[in-house]
Amino acid sequence: MAKKYLVKKEDQSKINNLIILGPSGSGKGTQAELLARKFNLKMLDGGEYLRKILSSKSKESKRVAEKMNKGNLAPTDIIRDWMKMQIFSRPISRVLIFSGQPRMLGEAKLALKWFQESGRGIPLVIFLKVSNREVLKRLEKRYICAKCKKVYTLDAPPKKFCKICGGKIIKRADDTPKLIKNRLAYFKIQVAQTLKFFKKKGILIEVNGEQSVVETHKEIVRKIGDYFKK
Ligand SMILES: [Zn+2]
Repeated sequence: MAKKYLVKKEDQSKINNLIILGPSGSGKGTQAELLARKFNLKMLDGGEYLRKILSSKSKESKRVAEKMNKGNLAPTDIIRDWMKMQIFSRPISRVLIFSGQPRMLGEAKLALKWFQESGRGIPLVIFLKVSNREVLKRLEKRYICAKCKKVYTLDAPPKKFCKICGGKIIKRADDTPKLIKNRLAYFKIQVAQTLKFFKKKGILIEVNGEQSVVETHKEIVRKIGDYFKK
């Protein structure tokens, strides 16, 4: 990147807690990671947490599996409890970035309340806009490591093993075109109200997620900078 710090130094020290939303395949995980590194934030990924539950043998695991295997979102109470725990248990000095949550209006309202009650103040919400067509195209190429969940973008099924942990690289079970379409439709319905809510609060930043990873990151950082100028 040409300019290393698009956000001024003094703005970096007062960066809000962040929430990044977008359909699966929008690249929110990658963008969250980049922002976490740039601003020294603690990245919290609800999807990852759910996948951890799925691979466990808890009683929750079955309940989550039933929903997610239909292409639906996970039971909301699990995500809700997890978010609350993260917001309250981490030191306030540790600024957080939530990737993919809260998605539903109820969760969003609660999360905002928790952010304030915990003394963290109001978070900023970034939404990555990506068309269904682009999502389908991207997810067709998405593979993950069965062990460490690292995401790989590949044109053909992989012949090699994960370069981080040596695990097997597989297609995610919920990454079939039919389930992706279900997920997208469900996401749109759920997230529409949530975005409206954040917009009304004046804390929503919308970004074109169809650009390259670097371009998208730049737009996010620029818009965060603009927000602080207001
Ligand atoms: Zn791996």
